[in-house]
Amino acid sequence: MKIQVVSNRLPLEVEIKKDKGEISAKPASGGLATGLSGLRQAYDMVWTGWPGSITSSARERAEIERFMAKRSLFPVWLSKKDYNGYYKGFSNKVIWPLFHYFCQYPQYRQVYWKAYVKANLAFCNRILENASEEDIFWINDYHLMLLPEMIRENLPHAKIGFFLHIPFPHFEVFRQLPWRKEILEGLAGAGLIGFHTQQYADYFLHCVNQILGCGIDDGTFEVKGRTVRAGSFPMGIDYQKFTECARQPDVISTVRQYREEYQGKKIILSVDRLDYSKGIIQRLRGFDRFLENNPAQRGKIALLELIVPSRVGVEQYRQLKKEIDEFSGKINGKYGTPFWTPVRYFYRSVDFPTLCGLYYSADIALITPRRDGMNLVAKEYVAVHQGQPGVLILSEFAGAAQQLRESITVNPNSIDAIAQAIEKALDMPVEEQTKRLEAMQKVIRKTDVKDWAAGFIEKLRMAAARTKSTLES
Ligand code: UDP
Repeated sequence: MKIQVVSNRLPLEVEIKKDKGEISAKPASGGLATGLSGLRQAYDMVWTGWPGSITSSARERAEIERFMAKRSLFPVWLSKKDYNGYYKGFSNKVIWPLFHYFCQYPQYRQVYWKAYVKANLAFCNRILENASEEDIFWINDYHLMLLPEMIRENLPHAKIGFFLHIPFPHFEVFRQLPWRKEILEGLAGAGLIGFHTQQYADYFLHCVNQILGCGIDDGTFEVKGRTVRAGSFPMGIDYQKFTECARQPDVISTVRQYREEYQGKKIILSVDRLDYSKGIIQRLRGFDRFLENNPAQRGKIALLELIVPSRVGVEQYRQLKKEIDEFSGKINGKYGTPFWTPVRYFYRSVDFPTLCGLYYSADIALITPRRDGMNLVAKEYVAVHQGQPGVLILSEFAGAAQQLRESITVNPNSIDAIAQAIEKALDMPVEEQTKRLEAMQKVIRKTDVKDWAAGFIEKLRMAAARTKSTLES
């Protein structure tokens, strides 16, 4: 049996080197690829997605095709115009802001919608070149919400699963989307629809009830004679990789360097992609308020902000970066001394040992997205802190907060709540820190990313078997 994985991006980033004409490829980091690695032993697996290149040269495309085919990867070729409309337009300027509750941001343009339909169709056609009704289809994320029904029309009995990696919003938010019915109908082509939390699944089912008029029964609904199930599958991390990292020599040396640099000071760490959903400005304001209210802590604490570039070139993101630059500078100007910089801010991505070194060295992780489907950084921080105290401050609007109940949860919109959470974290006895970390580690260990992927596929097969027997009886 073959698993057909589909996502916007393939798990390899390829490029043809202009000078030598050779293909260079590096694995695109991401939880999905790690999660699926465990399933490779049990199933044949092929992966369809955008190859990260918009070359229109037939020769280059053919070369990339050959390179990818050897690795069971199938690229979907889109023109620059179509990719911009589908990805930069509909996915990131309509769905992303709306599903993260930034209701004033979406640009409901018909051209974006048309490009989205066209791109989903291009994915469908590519998949059908190499598909059978026996295959298991696992479609991922908000870029491809029309694809389940498109595949269903061609392969009516296929096992089709869909997983949404971002929040599914409340009905009152979702209903603002001009194409709300089409999106739900597209998703309903799947037999199983997975979300990070039960709340997202419930919101989705409520929308199905209100907009498609389907009755909901114990997490399922009927459409065109089929049963569709929606459920919660909280995505995890590669737990072992993170727990073992503290023993690696390059991580140990990174930690040593941080310890020397920040001797006698507490380190607060934040790690985010640059995005308005991550609440970076509100967090800086919270830290500012903390320093204002706690003069005795000045000089004894530092906020390390690692911000990973994202959607570079988009005006809104450029503006956000400018605000972060200015606000960090303002805090440093207000409180800093020749011997102390309150906010240290890095705008880049770092390698794995450096990231783990940062996690391990940090006394407090301050993770305050205004909305986040899951937030893996929170889980990674907790997993790394084996036998090492640490406190997680986590936004109540991150999906991870549903599982990490022993974190200090905050409302990321409240500057005072953030300041008070930092005070509480600093006052927390080491025994309590350890107790809370251990409880959270237990949860994260149980929902490792490989178990997550295997659990989703298992449930999908069960859902498909039930539907088949209902149709036959
Ligand atoms: N990350 C990374 N390089 C970095 C910083 C972070 O690869 O320099 C990873 C981090 O380990 C985590 C992911 O980026 O797995 C961020 O995932 P999260 O769910 O927290 O947020 P998202 O970016 O998906 O919204």
